[in-house]
Amino acid sequence: MARTFEELFPSEEACHQHLFRLRWPEGFRCPRCRGDACWQVSRDLYRCQKCDHQASVTSGTIFHGSRRSLRVWFRAMWYVTNQKLGVSALGLMKELDLGSYHTAWAWMQKLRTAMVRPGRDRLGGKVEVGVTYLGGRKPGKRGRGASGKTVVVVVVQDLGNRIGRIRLRRIRSASAENLAAVVREEVEPGAQIFTDGWRGFGGLPEMGYRHIVVPKGGGPGETALPMVNRVVELIYRWLQRSHQVAVRPSYMDYYLDEFTFRFNRRSWRSREWLFFALIQQAAAVAPLPVRVMRSRKHPVASTIESSGPPRPPLLRTKAHPDGGKTDGAGEAPA
Ligand SMILES: [Zn+2]
Repeated sequence: MARTFEELFPSEEACHQHLFRLRWPEGFRCPRCRGDACWQVSRDLYRCQKCDHQASVTSGTIFHGSRRSLRVWFRAMWYVTNQKLGVSALGLMKELDLGSYHTAWAWMQKLRTAMVRPGRDRLGGKVEVGVTYLGGRKPGKRGRGASGKTVVVVVVQDLGNRIGRIRLRRIRSASAENLAAVVREEVEPGAQIFTDGWRGFGGLPEMGYRHIVVPKGGGPGETALPMVNRVVELIYRWLQRSHQVAVRPSYMDYYLDEFTFRFNRRSWRSREWLFFALIQQAAAVAPLPVRVMRSRKHPVASTIESSGPPRPPLLRTKAHPDGGKTDGAGEAPA
C-alpha cells in the first residue's frame, strides 16, 4: 500500500530528521574537526562541542538559504516525482502555493540540479550518439525546418537487445566542437560509438573512441540509430503530453534532466523510491545561483538564456493522466 506524503513526512521536524540522517548517517560529524559531539542550537543548526563550529543540516544542499520550510521543499519533490509526465513551473506554483511564477521557475531549476546526480559516471561499452531537434511539431533533423528548435544530443547506452542508460544535452548547434564537448563529458574513453554520417562526428577517433558510422536510416527526422530514435520518440511524446506548448530553450534543460532522471530509473516499481532518490540527491548538491544554473553544462551559452526567466505559458499545462511508459529493464540509475 502506497504511503501518502502526510504519512511519510508529517512534520517539519520529520523532514529535518531525515535530512540529518542523510548528511550524518553515523551521527553528527563536525565538518571542521571531525568531532562527533554537538549541541543542537536550533532545528537546523548544530554546534560542535570541540571546536564551536556551527554546522547546518541544510548547508551544502539545494535547500540551503531558502526562506521556505524544508517540508515545502519535500512536498515539491513529492509532487515532481508523482507527476509521471513531469511538471511545469505553473503546476508547481499552484500545488505549493508559491505565490510567484518566478519563484516556481527558480525551484524547478534547483530541483533540476538535484536530478543530475553529482559526479555521475560516463556511459561505456556500446553507445549510440545522435542529434535531434526538439520544440517543433515533430522531432526534426539538421537543415531545413531546424530553426527555432532546440538542438539536443542524445546519448544512449546499447545493451544489445535493450536500452541502458541515457544522457541528454542541449547544445547551441551541432558543430564538431559542441558534439566533442558533450561526448567527452558523457562517454567513457575507448567506448564504441555509433553515429550517423554527420561530419560533426568526424573527430571521434582522434578523441580515443571507436567510431562506427551507421548508414542513413528511413523517414524524415530519423537517423539510422534505432535506440536514439526510440528515446527521441519517447521524449517527444512526453513533452507533447505534459506541456502542450512549445518548450522554450531555457525550460528545455529542466525537462531533459527530468526525463533522464525518470528514464534511467524506469524499472523502479515504486514512486516512493524515486521520491527518496530525489531527496537524497538534493541533500548532496549545493545550490547554484540561478545565473550559473542557466549556463550550466553548456559549451556554448544561448543568448536566449540571458534574458531572465520566461513568462508563464498561456495554454494549459495540466499533465495527461496516462502514458509516459517506457520499455526495457533499467540499469543502475544516474
Ligand atoms: Zn568541530
